[in-house]
Amino acid sequence: MSQRARAACVIGWPIEHSRSPLIHNYWLKTYNIPGAYRREAVPPERFRDFIQSLTAHGYVGANLIFPHKEAALAWSLPDDCARAVGAANTLWFDGVLRSTNTDVEGFLHNLDACAPGWDRNGKTAVVLGAGGAARAVIYGLLERGTDRIVVINRTRQRAQSLQDYFGARVRPAPWDERDRWLTESNLLVNATKLGMPDQPDLVLDIARLPAGAVVADLVYVPLTTPLLREASGRGLRIADGVGMLLHQAVRGFTLWFGKKPEITKELRSLVERDLSVLQPPAQE
Ligand code: NAP
Repeated sequence: MSQRARAACVIGWPIEHSRSPLIHNYWLKTYNIPGAYRREAVPPERFRDFIQSLTAHGYVGANLIFPHKEAALAWSLPDDCARAVGAANTLWFDGVLRSTNTDVEGFLHNLDACAPGWDRNGKTAVVLGAGGAARAVIYGLLERGTDRIVVINRTRQRAQSLQDYFGARVRPAPWDERDRWLTESNLLVNATKLGMPDQPDLVLDIARLPAGAVVADLVYVPLTTPLLREASGRGLRIADGVGMLLHQAVRGFTLWFGKKPEITKELRSLVERDLSVLQPPAQE
């Protein structure tokens, strides 16, 4: 029986740097699913019209990147996760146009794959950064029962506002005190831009982390950040940004094309190769 071809897209402004087409088209080909996944360059002033006529454009759903992730909440029905994070990156139809934020599960599932049991005993996580990615990380850590999440951000007020929003398990701390908190941390997450090619280095004394700690870096250009290299050198378990990028894509593909896809070594190599050739500063 032949399947009807479906199409999805990634919507952004600009859009050229998005790796999502590489990932989803790999899966379409691998599973022999008739369909397409395309880039759509849509400026902010056309965004509402575009997603309200997604079906007319031939799409069953979409990913969203900058600058549309926040605006999408107003023009779709966000789930609890997208509402809490304050941004959506995946749209699909279920009678109505729904939205979610798959960065949360991308972060968690990548940690599950790279460091099984990381969440066994709750305890303390240190999250560097207080932007959109940090919000997704904090929401995920709270869902998994982390007892205390120390949020350390250059602009203290942004970390404070995360405690105001998420509650007392989130504790803001000054940027200057980041080394001190590492001794008590079972999980360290870099959710800042530090470590990217056009950014300063992340200066951190990770020798202070306990022996069993896990280190996650959301930055994926470069593929292996100085933070991850140093953590690996110390024998700590690590979870990298490319892993998160791949894991966050699984849900959208499943919703649009009806098949839960595998993250294979071949797919990871394909994305790594592409990232190492182009090395753009912009990310998803
Ligand atoms: P964002 O909302 O712009 O937040 C940027 C964060 O970096 C803020 O906390 C900011 O601190 C901090 N920062 C920037 N420059 C800094 C500096 N010089 N010193 C100290 N802190 C600095 O960005 P985002 O969307 O949260 O993204 C953060 C990172 O995660 C990016 O590298 C992004 O590409 C990556 N990411 C990866 C994935 C993935 O799938 N792997 C998914 C999402 C995001 P202030 O508040 O003080 O400005």
